[in-house]
Amino acid sequence: MALVVQKYGGSSVANTERLKAVAERLARSRQAGDQLVVVVSAMANTTDELIELAAQMTEKPEPREMDLLLSTGEIVSSSLLAIALIHLGCRAVALSGAQAGIGTDRRHGRARILKVDPYRVRREIEAENIVIVAGFQGITEELDITTLGRGASDTTAVALAAVLRSDRCEIYTDVKGVYTADPRIEPEARRLPEISYEEMLELASHGAKVLHSRAVELGSVHQVPIYVSSSFTESPGTLIHGGTSMMEQRNKVMGIAEDTDVARITIRGVPDNPGIAAALFEPLGAASISVDTIVQNASVERLTDLTFTVSRSDLDRALEIVRPVAAEIKAVDILADTHLAKISVVGSGMISGPGYAGLMFRTLFAAGINIELITTSEIRITCLVDAARVPEAVRALHKAFELEKG
Ligand code: ADP
Ligand code: ASP
Ligand code: MG
Repeated sequence: MALVVQKYGGSSVANTERLKAVAERLARSRQAGDQLVVVVSAMANTTDELIELAAQMTEKPEPREMDLLLSTGEIVSSSLLAIALIHLGCRAVALSGAQAGIGTDRRHGRARILKVDPYRVRREIEAENIVIVAGFQGITEELDITTLGRGASDTTAVALAAVLRSDRCEIYTDVKGVYTADPRIEPEARRLPEISYEEMLELASHGAKVLHSRAVELGSVHQVPIYVSSSFTESPGTLIHGGTSMMEQRNKVMGIAEDTDVARITIRGVPDNPGIAAALFEPLGAASISVDTIVQNASVERLTDLTFTVSRSDLDRALEIVRPVAAEIKAVDILADTHLAKISVVGSGMISGPGYAGLMFRTLFAAGINIELITTSEIRITCLVDAARVPEAVRALHKAFELEKG
């Protein structure tokens, strides 16, 4: 009997009708003999609505209380799904993240899974229950409820698949798989039958929200293949895995990702002395603010400009941290703006093939889109451009790299 871990996203459990449809689907798999552990997201826009409720109380709600509040979204959907299954005559039980043994650190709103104790989940599987687990949440050693970051039910699912040694983790969503670009922006985008962990990680961590990037990271570390497919149809999806069969034949770009959650901070007139970068970035790291793109200009008269990006939700906190440091090191000025977005092309073909960067820059130039910053990895090129031009940039690059062709 195969043990399958599945995850259903917010649109797949958007209302009671959808929840019943998922329950029927699970009942059929169970009848076919599979043992099922099922992770669910909150119904449709529930998480946004809970955030909005808290915003009506105060501008800055306490992170601990926010996590307890946000965790309820997934508790609602998981218990409703278990109720629907039991009503269909299946044995089922719903567990919160804490009950499922998801242990995390204390970083509220962005907690990381430290360990998974699968004792209770295993016991329920042995009792022949379909185990429904509330995604996106865990518990600290001090018994505080945490959440793992937006979109992180994927990560709950892959973590459980890893610890339960499931053959693969199936992620069911509202698109048929991973596409060459967000199909909502580029109608010509093509579903990829397979993609490597490395490429998927670059896409996910640069804005392709079809998968949470930490889910891909965990899949890669624990060698859990991740299958992304639609919960609305039975059509084939995308397998994310570490096999080499596909990688050797690759000589092109696999996909394009865009990320509008970008804020840029520039510290002007920074004295060009050793230790300055550490003085600025260490406190940001200590506050769990992840800094993405860092560029330091060549110094003129021992003064340089330092530019970096953070996510928009971190901008205020980052400025609070950076301002006193900038004053201390006698920097001239701090500028912040939120009008930029990242556009990235990703493909392992870049390792050996030349010309990718040139084609990307030429394409953006031809579309009249100015590039404000460039960063690269071995298999990715990212440009910061005006956020308003992103859809146009995605479509132009998709065409230039001929991604619509199989
Ligand atoms: P879920 O609620 O199921 O977790 P998400 O909304 O988080 O679903 O992720 C699915 C969405 O990701 C799709 O509706 C699509 O708009 C978006 N998306 C972005 N990039 C891609 C891509 N490369 N391939 C497929 N979907 C993508
Ligand atoms: N409900 C959470 C969110 O909206 C987690 C998830 O859907 O994966 O971000
Ligand atoms: Mg998601």
